[in-house]
Amino acid sequence: MHNQDQALIFELSTPGRVGYSLPEMDVPELELNDLLPEGYLRADEPELPEVSELDIMRHYTALSKRNHGLDSGFYPLGSCTMKYNPKINENVARYNGFAHIHPLQDEDSVQGALELMYDLQEHLIEITGMDEVTLQSAAGAHGEWTGLMLIRAFHEANGDFNRTKVIVPDSAHGTNPASATIAGFETVTVKSNENGLVDLEDLRRVVGEDTAALMLTNPNTLGLFEENIVELAEIVHDAGGKLYYDGANLNAVLSKARPGDMGFDVVHLNLHKTFTGPHGGGGPGSGPVGVKADLIPFLPKPVVAKRGEDYVLDYDRPLSIGRVKPFYGNFGINVRAYTYIRSMGPDGLKAVTENAVLNANYMMRRLADHYDLPFDKHCKHEFVLSGRRQKKLGVRTLDVAKRLLDFGYHPPTIYFPLIVEECLMIEPTETEAKETLDAFCDVMIQIAKEAEENPEIVQEAPHTTIVGRMDETKAARKPVLRYKKN
Ligand SMILES: *Cc1c(COP(=O)(O)O)cnc(C)c1O
Repeated sequence: MHNQDQALIFELSTPGRVGYSLPEMDVPELELNDLLPEGYLRADEPELPEVSELDIMRHYTALSKRNHGLDSGFYPLGSCTMKYNPKINENVARYNGFAHIHPLQDEDSVQGALELMYDLQEHLIEITGMDEVTLQSAAGAHGEWTGLMLIRAFHEANGDFNRTKVIVPDSAHGTNPASATIAGFETVTVKSNENGLVDLEDLRRVVGEDTAALMLTNPNTLGLFEENIVELAEIVHDAGGKLYYDGANLNAVLSKARPGDMGFDVVHLNLHKTFTGPHGGGGPGSGPVGVKADLIPFLPKPVVAKRGEDYVLDYDRPLSIGRVKPFYGNFGINVRAYTYIRSMGPDGLKAVTENAVLNANYMMRRLADHYDLPFDKHCKHEFVLSGRRQKKLGVRTLDVAKRLLDFGYHPPTIYFPLIVEECLMIEPTETEAKETLDAFCDVMIQIAKEAEENPEIVQEAPHTTIVGRMDETKAARKPVLRYKKN
């Protein structure tokens, strides 16, 4: 097969062809055996494709065209806030004074970078209503873990060693129970009620002297705002527990409501979601953690602080939980978030929230006649539908998601949260125009009709992609590591 757009790079391989040239060696050659102990050397040469520079360029360009990305199309992945990343962020992150500094430079030679970090902390303090922020954690889950370690340090500093449990609602993002477990806590689940909110009766039942914290997303992953947040905070605080806010998705509350004002003690933010850092693909993220005053002494060190006119890295923190990341966090992502906050301004951020919520409600209403709507009330930045009506016709939510690929859309999040049968979780974000939302809704409605009239076309989708339906578990567990040409 020699259609270069379709062929695997291994199929394009021609023995002896090379895509690189190196200068002639002008130092003595070293034997690998001199560098690595015996048992660590491979027995056979690796089977690498042999191609020219042009072949490899075309290969990667062809692959990139098959990708779904925000710059190529609508990406309504619920709980992930795939919104447009303004290109001005990239320009600023590439400034020499930001991109070419070294983390071991003297403080007095990087005052501008420290000032940016300090100012970003101040902005995030204002946005969240907390008293101090650290920029060290590298992602949302890392922020959760950091926040929970702070809560543990707080309890232990009070001689309170028996707070071993973290309460997590059954609608929570999967990283919440995972972070609690990795931080050494036991996770206790609290149920949602029929309105999709935390069941306060169940919360009263599970809360107690062993409660370290309750972790909550508000709005929750169903896109619903916890209306009883003040009462809920009281229940946890009265028991001596701390309140943790999963602020990965702040698109529904930005400039409208603040976790600090709702009674939360700790919050993490995903700068790579709400604050337009590039997101996905395993690239660097940033998950700053904000805390109330009584948790400040435990923050990771160093803390970026201001002394008179100077910006400093404060290491004098005897109660600190220590470093959670080499150096000072993913600085480049923090530059992008800072640029975004400064270029939007307070009014811009308010408009983000209003449009994100408007867009989600608009789509929810357009789709509500065609898919089941488990919670029929205003949503925030995202909403969930249930495909149970389609399931009765033999078309599962997975099939609907696969069919969307035929129309060039990245599917929404599916089968999460688990409490909704055949769940589809859609988050349009504020950066999409009405025409884009309508085009997507039209396709969703067409797929609902197909499920009734011609279910096979949905069940067997996708039809137009480069490969058909894959075994997703196998793809994750047994990726192709070796290709044998035959
Ligand atoms: C994305 C997300 C996380 C995890 O963030 P990562 O940066 O992927 O670790 C946690 N909670 C919620 C609600 C999220 O949407």
